Amino acid sequence: MTSGLGEAVRALRYAWAAPCSLVGLLLAATALAFGATAKGIEGALEVAGGRIPLLVSRLPKGLRFSAITFGHVILGVSHAILDFHRGHEHVHVRQYERWGILFFPLYCGSSLVQLLRGRDFYLDNRFEREARAKATPTPAGPPLSG
Ligand SMILES: [Zn+2]
Repeated sequence: MTSGLGEAVRALRYAWAAPCSLVGLLLAATALAFGATAKGIEGALEVAGGRIPLLVSRLPKGLRFSAITFGHVILGVSHAILDFHRGHEHVHVRQYERWGILFFPLYCGSSLVQLLRGRDFYLDNRFEREARAKATPTPAGPPLSG
């Protein structure tokens, strides 16, 4: 692949995931306004800290997360958590690049199917299973949700 073609493919991946990244950017902008900080790492924007942990703690128990990805934007309760779970979250970035805006309904649909089968909507979600299987192994650390 020539570098020009490679750059074009990369641009298409960002464009295809852009509607989802826009959701992430809106949440990131809000988080930044409440003290979070941002880093650009491996082609994604990582935003963490500030009031994110407080806001996450106020979500219903099943929706609380330590890290969550929207397109090329990853939100986390802390940058240390993001360091630890980067491999997992970047598998989600690749999933957004593959599915684009379809990722949202497909992810929710997978969770719904698992619930209807009496399984865990998060742990048994096909996208979460793929992220756990493909993520770069890391030493033992805090449990991940999101
Ligand atoms: Zn995940």
